[in-house]
Amino acid sequence: MDLHSPIITLPRVGQTTYALLKKLGLETVHDLLFYFPFRYDDFSRSVSIASLQADTTANVSGEIELIQNKKSFKRRMSITEALIKDETDTLKVIWFNQPFLTRTLKVGDKISLAGRVSENYGQLAMVSPVYEKIYSDELVHTSGLVPNYHLTAALTQKQIRFLIKQIISLADTTEDWLPTEIKKRLNLLDLGRALRQIHFPKNHAEVLTAQRRLAFTELFLRQLKAQMIKRQLRDRRALPIKFQEAATKKFVDSLPFKLTDDQRKAAWEILKDLEKSAPMSRLLEGDVGSGKTLVVILALLNTALNKRQSALMVPTEILAQQHFHSISKLLAAYNFNIALATHHRKDKDWQNADIVIGTQALIQKNIKFKNLALAVIDEQHRFGVAQRKKILEVGLTDETTKSSLTPHFLSLTATPIPRSLALAIYGDLDLSVINQLPTGRQPIITKIVTEAGRSAAYDFIRAQIKAGRQAFVVCPLIDESDKLGAKSAKQEYAKLTADIFPELKIGLLHGRLKAPEKEKVMADFLDNKLQVLVTTAVIEVGVDVPNATMMLIEGAERFGLAQLHQFRGRVGRGGHQSHCFVFPSREEISNLQTIERLEALTRHRDGWELAKIDLKLRGAGELYGTGQSGFPELQIASLFDYANIKKAAEEAKLLIHDDPELLKYPRLKQQLGKWEENAHLE
Ligand code: ADP
Ligand code: MG
Repeated sequence: MDLHSPIITLPRVGQTTYALLKKLGLETVHDLLFYFPFRYDDFSRSVSIASLQADTTANVSGEIELIQNKKSFKRRMSITEALIKDETDTLKVIWFNQPFLTRTLKVGDKISLAGRVSENYGQLAMVSPVYEKIYSDELVHTSGLVPNYHLTAALTQKQIRFLIKQIISLADTTEDWLPTEIKKRLNLLDLGRALRQIHFPKNHAEVLTAQRRLAFTELFLRQLKAQMIKRQLRDRRALPIKFQEAATKKFVDSLPFKLTDDQRKAAWEILKDLEKSAPMSRLLEGDVGSGKTLVVILALLNTALNKRQSALMVPTEILAQQHFHSISKLLAAYNFNIALATHHRKDKDWQNADIVIGTQALIQKNIKFKNLALAVIDEQHRFGVAQRKKILEVGLTDETTKSSLTPHFLSLTATPIPRSLALAIYGDLDLSVINQLPTGRQPIITKIVTEAGRSAAYDFIRAQIKAGRQAFVVCPLIDESDKLGAKSAKQEYAKLTADIFPELKIGLLHGRLKAPEKEKVMADFLDNKLQVLVTTAVIEVGVDVPNATMMLIEGAERFGLAQLHQFRGRVGRGGHQSHCFVFPSREEISNLQTIERLEALTRHRDGWELAKIDLKLRGAGELYGTGQSGFPELQIASLFDYANIKKAAEEAKLLIHDDPELLKYPRLKQQLGKWEENAHLE
């Protein structure tokens, strides 16, 4: 067996398990090694039964004195009861609905248990602990720090731990591509050791050192790529776009509102860059609702007035359509040829339009733009650095001049990170920041609503809709699922239509609808033909419907605070007072941590502040979730790790300065290539 062996060759992996693992992107031993846990249960405190205390998590071991199944007729479930004895005392253990346990666990067996201790009528008991039979000294599931992985429903933590345990010795056969000098200088672990420690740490210190090394890896690759792009761009030429001052002023004056000072300043920085014959590389950062699109439109307008082509790439189909409609409307007077290009709808001859708006479809192979002079990526935190490189590579030859040119590049993000951090992580980009929201925006009133308040919230929504407004209802899932309690958009849509708002027009929007359906629903909501839009996280990015003033979020605890803040940013975009109602799931009401997190949302308006609070409250237990970092390439590194980010930037700069083509580091170069391929699109 080696790193390339398919997982199916491992013991206890049949076709079913294999298919499930494949769903997680795990096909080879190598994939498994690089599938990191997101959290650890701490069972490092193994204690005697006599010293157990109620309401703590603990690990005990002993011998089974008694084990039997019972039926609870009242609650229609089966209960397995056991008594476990060590030198000090006896402990009662209960499992629900696992009658098969009595087939594996027998009186006299030695077992190790890990779980929560609770008190019932003065007696301590462990309810549904994780168990493991003791055959030898080595326990995987119930002692020390036990890794937890993100899994699909049908796979268990035990299964994946068992698999990784079998292959972990191969960690040392991985090729460590990080240059030795860097490891020495920064005191970073070798790759093999880091992999062993991240999966099976002996203590917290081992988790931290492993994490540090693996996080550095991700940041370093990202920085290397960015530095390489910067270097390549240094010698490139771009088409200068002349600032059309009078026309720009006329357009701005025609708008129904005044630009904010920050919008003006950002637009000015961008338009000045465009006048140069060196390609612009700029990041426009501004919290949700700060009006970034308008700044972009000024750049598109100037480019089109110069008779040059521009492209705007966005992460979702819905957003592409919305931008297409609003930009077409705003620029209607100019008779530009504005085209839409997504996987589902491509306007005829779009590669020759003045302004092209689209999704990743814009950067597919063999696409030739006419004379692309400006490329803009909206919501760039959803894309990786590799996509940026691609968009710079399309349309490189100017058909008019036959010379090789690079488009000016602008990327937009609402990941509201502080300037110093932005400069470190986007070391190669210039930065424009919009710090203020347009004037006249009232803060969105945010409230946590429990089931008791549900019907009052519905009444409020009904009244607001009567006054002409509209509402979003966001659910964690599209379909019903076996995950208990989570609301699905489809269910919620059915309920609202039939029982709650039968008199209103309600739409349903989610990522699995066909493109034309999505388009229709979104257009109807924009036109206020639909008054309520039931949806999922697809509306997280960018959607702009100023007349929508109410946002209702179901199962709110399932989302991160930064994400909830993005949802909330969908309302409060017009002049009307907006409201956001946050509904925790029924069983979460008594979860103090959940309530504390959601409370933070009601008090803070600053996305970065919220992201920090989220991290603090979820604490060390939840180390990193998928997509929490805000960067698709970062699985383990955190945006909060400023020191590591800075170090990675410095080291990458040094290395590229000394050896721009990485000739001395063939392994690193190969790794960078692989990483670029894998940097996936969402
Ligand atoms: P984001 O920065 O989140 O992309 P948008 O560009 O979508 O924000 O703008 C949010 C809303 O604010 C839009 O409806 C837009 O028309 C409006 N808007 C933009 N600039 C201003 C302004 N200076 N004054 C008032 N409203 C504005
Ligand atoms: Mg936007």
